[in-house]
Amino acid sequence: MVKDLSTLTAFIDGDAYSFNEGDTLLDFIDRHRGRGHVPTLCDAPQLDPYGACRVCSVEVALQADGPRRVVASCHTPLTAGMHVFTESQKVRKLRKNIVELVLTDHPLDCLTCEVSGNCELQTVAAKVGIRKVRYPAGANHLDRKKDLSHAYMTSELSKCINCARCVRACDEIQGQHVLSMHGRGFNAKIIKGLDQSFADSECVSCGACSQACPTSAISDVFFSKSIEATKKTRTICTYCGVGCNLNVATKGDQVLSIQAPVDAEVNHAHTCLKGRFAFKFYNHKDRLRTPLIKQPDGQFKEATWQEAYDHIFTNLTRIKADHGGQSVAGISSARCTNEENYLMQKFIRNVMGTNNIDCCARVCHSPTAWGMQKSFGTGAATNSYEDIEHTRCILVIGANPTEGHPVTGARLKQHIMKGTPLIVIDPRKIELVPYAKHHLQLRPGTNVALLNMFARCILDAGLVKTDFIKKRCENWEEFEAGLRALDLAELEKITGVSIDLVRAAAIEYASAEAAMSFHGLGVTEHQQGAKTVMLISNLAMMTGNIGRPGVGVNPLRGQNNVQGAADMGCQPHQGAGYYEMADPQVQQRYADFYGVPTPTEPGWKIPQMFDAAIEGKLKALWLMGEDVVQTDPDAHHVRHAMESLEFLVVQEIFMTETAKYADVILPASSFLEKSGTFTNAERRVQRVNATVKPLPGTKPDGQILCEVLQRFGVAQPDYTPDGVLAEVAQIVPFFKGITWENLGENGLQWPVKEGGVDTQIMHQEQFTRGKGHFHFFSWKESTELETHRGEFPFILTTGRILEHYNCGTMTRRTGNSEIVGQDYLSLNPADAQRKGIRSGDIVRLFSARGEVELEARVTDEVKPGILYTTFHFPDAMVNNVTGQGCDGDTMCPEYKVVAADVELVRAGKPKKKRMMEMV
Ligand code: SF4
Repeated sequence: MVKDLSTLTAFIDGDAYSFNEGDTLLDFIDRHRGRGHVPTLCDAPQLDPYGACRVCSVEVALQADGPRRVVASCHTPLTAGMHVFTESQKVRKLRKNIVELVLTDHPLDCLTCEVSGNCELQTVAAKVGIRKVRYPAGANHLDRKKDLSHAYMTSELSKCINCARCVRACDEIQGQHVLSMHGRGFNAKIIKGLDQSFADSECVSCGACSQACPTSAISDVFFSKSIEATKKTRTICTYCGVGCNLNVATKGDQVLSIQAPVDAEVNHAHTCLKGRFAFKFYNHKDRLRTPLIKQPDGQFKEATWQEAYDHIFTNLTRIKADHGGQSVAGISSARCTNEENYLMQKFIRNVMGTNNIDCCARVCHSPTAWGMQKSFGTGAATNSYEDIEHTRCILVIGANPTEGHPVTGARLKQHIMKGTPLIVIDPRKIELVPYAKHHLQLRPGTNVALLNMFARCILDAGLVKTDFIKKRCENWEEFEAGLRALDLAELEKITGVSIDLVRAAAIEYASAEAAMSFHGLGVTEHQQGAKTVMLISNLAMMTGNIGRPGVGVNPLRGQNNVQGAADMGCQPHQGAGYYEMADPQVQQRYADFYGVPTPTEPGWKIPQMFDAAIEGKLKALWLMGEDVVQTDPDAHHVRHAMESLEFLVVQEIFMTETAKYADVILPASSFLEKSGTFTNAERRVQRVNATVKPLPGTKPDGQILCEVLQRFGVAQPDYTPDGVLAEVAQIVPFFKGITWENLGENGLQWPVKEGGVDTQIMHQEQFTRGKGHFHFFSWKESTELETHRGEFPFILTTGRILEHYNCGTMTRRTGNSEIVGQDYLSLNPADAQRKGIRSGDIVRLFSARGEVELEARVTDEVKPGILYTTFHFPDAMVNNVTGQGCDGDTMCPEYKVVAADVELVRAGKPKKKRMMEMV
């Protein structure tokens, strides 16, 4: 906003306008005259000013009739009183000459070009009045070879105008530095890596370059810049907790392509390859398209929706009557919307009469919610992605953001490359490690020991913010006493990290003006997961890194709506809005609201449900969008649980490993076919908008649940996203100020007060629970290692890769599988040599639970004695090997510490470069 009209006013073609401090001439002109009033070629709103093409030239003068000079508007700062002339004869002639020269080196085959009608060069040429090109064609016209080597990315560099937008997108947005400009004059051209194809380069397929390219020089296989689309719909990516906004181009019921909105606050014109390219699963031939009921012979038979609902009603009513509500349970999904999760827990609690409702947050971030509630009172990120721009130190612990949360990972990388120190605490050399000032490569399972060392070093260095603690926190004395009693030499041995390395990192964090931590499943999926979260919270409190820009504790949520599923009450101990179900006042509140009794018996968490099924106490289970057989640990045990159930209902989009055990399958719609809201990792509630109609034969999960509620006699209206959201806003206090309309394009971050006032930074004046609470915990060895390490000498840790999300049901059915089409086992070269294993060999990975065969990947990314793999592919079924150890507070499985061993099965050759690059 204008501070002082006398100093922040300038003129465009004689008209006075206010401007913002830091505006370039082009910012100023675009704001007041509209983007495109002054033509540009090398400029793009998502990139820094470059000033290469000079097409945006304007004349400027300090006085209206003063001497003028010609400048490139995109990178010339605006000063008060400046007069800008955008349409003078001189600049019009200059622009026309520049564009005419550009066209000498560009094929004039617009009629057959994919971007015809949506080509910025075409638009600019028309705007500056090009009718003919007077110069001879350049040599580059002959280079018409297309690069079609990649699953998604394409290039045809004869269309290149050397604006370097793609190079800058690769540098400034993704930070991958794959593209560069090579040669001079007519020989200047864009190259990938060392002049390789897209497939052979280090490209991570984010598509930032193709979105930035003004022509079709760099594009994608989906012709995302073609004008063929008849509609564009803004929605939210389904894959991870970043919650990127997507612009989905459609024609009828066909999704054609996806781009990223430039004005998206979450992702600023960026996505990863999952969000931008991995959408072709939505109409894949494998989609379930009709309800299925299992027959006595074990075969599925197609059924009508009414038949399926009747079958469910009959069986669940019978089971409830015979065994009580506690014999029924539900598991919902973080890939479903808030509204769907809300309806799911409403059905299980109000109709089935049980608190046996849980969701996949149990197996990823339940320790975060639990731990942060204990420390701060709220189990959610304290700050926003925007704060990355304001922080002075970044601590990444147990997270691999460039693979798991790629757009946030890229944003972190950009900030780090500008000089912000990075501390990585991780057993693996993740992609961010080369950018890190400190890498504490601890032994898996020793987070608590390492964070205790870290806190003790801060204490010893005298960097504790005593004033903050006195004013805002409690129980410091107990924590301090615990730290002072630590045996640091012993902790060095346990973690495998020297105290000197820990001290340097701790001092870096504690002495920064603002330090921000990010953690992931490498924190939570341990036996001391929730305790580790509380220790991270301690670090923030003891250094005063809470309640202001650029600080805080920021979990990187796994799947896209992990935050929302828990917010909506899909956990046994807390209902919608995090009210404790054991509290009689809460029970009364829900009973008053819904008009039915609230279940009072404590509910089961997911692992307890499986045990109860095997023990015969749990008779019926309803699964919405969760493939527990593939993704939950100890798959043999999970399969046994599924087989033990009397009745299993699965709501799914594909025939998953779990759906095969179902008695009834209800075919659901994907995120591209439904509307509702997702809540991302920074508490931002955003609108999901249907881009196409549900695939014939399928229904959105929300509509299925409404129809089920109706079948059970509940007066539930048919599904509308705004209708269910309005109900949520009545019962969830931090949704009070949210309406479908006021979410707008960029959503709102909860808590949202009435009137739509949202919260970017939490705990500013005081913590949600009043005082921030310090906890001290001693490190304990994992029982998995205590029990099995003698027999299985390696520690296996599991995670995910850029191309796939957990069970990969959707990404496996896209071009992502051409890039990475199987799970790999990473092992250190020293271990590989000892075992006679080379990259590409097939190895047997085995543990006390079972064995799997995987392709080996020999890499120093892991230390000797450590193994790493993913569990994206059911043909490998890595969870046959993982165990049932879990976090002591929340029962989140211990995926990160598995006692295992490996041996060679047969020699082989590496298949995919992407997974071999660290060899
Ligand atoms: Fe964004 Fe995550 Fe989707 Fe990638 S997977 S586009 S980072 S929300």
